[in-house]
Amino acid sequence: MIDNRSGKGLSFVRRIYLPRILGMAIGLFSVMAAMAPLHPPGWIWALMLANGLLWPHVAYLWAKHSTAPYRAEQRNLLLDSLMGGFWVAAMHFNPLPTVTILSMMTMNNVAAGGKALLARGLLGQLAGMLLASAILGSGLQLQTSALQVWACLPMLALYPMALGWVCYNLAINLADHKRQLSALSRTDSLTGLLNHGSWKDLLLLKFQISRQQRLPAMIALIDIDHFKAINDTYGHVVGDCVLRHLSQELQRSLGPDDQAGRYGGDEFCVIFPGADQARAGLAMEALRERVNAYRNPQLPMLRISLSIGLAAYDELLKSPEHWLEHADKALYAAKHQGRDQVSFNHGPAAPLRLAYPD
Ligand code: GH3
Ligand code: MG
Repeated sequence: MIDNRSGKGLSFVRRIYLPRILGMAIGLFSVMAAMAPLHPPGWIWALMLANGLLWPHVAYLWAKHSTAPYRAEQRNLLLDSLMGGFWVAAMHFNPLPTVTILSMMTMNNVAAGGKALLARGLLGQLAGMLLASAILGSGLQLQTSALQVWACLPMLALYPMALGWVCYNLAINLADHKRQLSALSRTDSLTGLLNHGSWKDLLLLKFQISRQQRLPAMIALIDIDHFKAINDTYGHVVGDCVLRHLSQELQRSLGPDDQAGRYGGDEFCVIFPGADQARAGLAMEALRERVNAYRNPQLPMLRISLSIGLAAYDELLKSPEHWLEHADKALYAAKHQGRDQVSFNHGPAAPLRLAYPD
């Protein structure tokens, strides 16, 4: 079950608090100016002041302390509409204050709850009008005086600005959340590196760039040797620490354009755009040595070694998958030649490229 006390519910209540204080306070001018010529009884003046000045705080506290703040705030918005309708009928439908109050309220309802709240708000306004007509009697006042026009101006000028400001901030927050979510969906949660899917997307992109611009590039597949034995001997928590340690060392070994990812399990992948075999080979050899030199005083017998397969971009490669196959073959060779080493796959054109630097 959703806990409405946290997250969406309370932030919704807080978001509405300030616009309601402002809307009710400046709306009070238009209602008082329209009601004054009708000489209403004292209790109507008291109700007007309570609605304009106290209600926003009562509504806020009521929703905040409710077990379901979101639903409580929806009820408060409905009560806003009911009271808006009440004042419109009480002022005998004086044209400018009526349009000002009903349209600002409707704008608020659409912004806060879309079509559903718009429809319920209209019903609430209608109910408020019927209530006022039943209690105070009905009437029509089709002239708006100059004072009443002036009294409506603060509402007309300020309220749309306040609501626009709230909506703008909301849009900025949403865009921010969207960015964070998108970054999370591209990241491997254990290591912070790119995950399998986003690294593969990057591989496709770099493959296309290398093909179009005839640029060199290298990819590497890195696999921890006997990682299952590390898990079995020291447990999965230590296994996870080893994966994190390797990812940190990997990031330290790379240049600004190189991109590392976690290919899956104990396998990592790197793309070196613009790099030749010598540069990528040196970076991977340095990584292998550093990881090999890792010692943990609490686990003195723990050793980590890596097998690494490297493959160069080649014009004869048919696809990014074909390129990966080459790196995989190099990794396989590293494993089968005794592990703890870097192996190269020189690509389909290798026999034709005897002058290619090694
Ligand atoms: P090889 O030298 O041939 O690479 O053997 P290996 O033991 O490293 O390879 P294998 O594929 O047999 O085992 C990989 C293990 O990695 C098996 C799996 O349980 C473990 N593993 C996969 N993902 C994680 C993880 O996120 N955390 C931990 N601790 N272990 C993982
Ligand atoms: Mg392994």
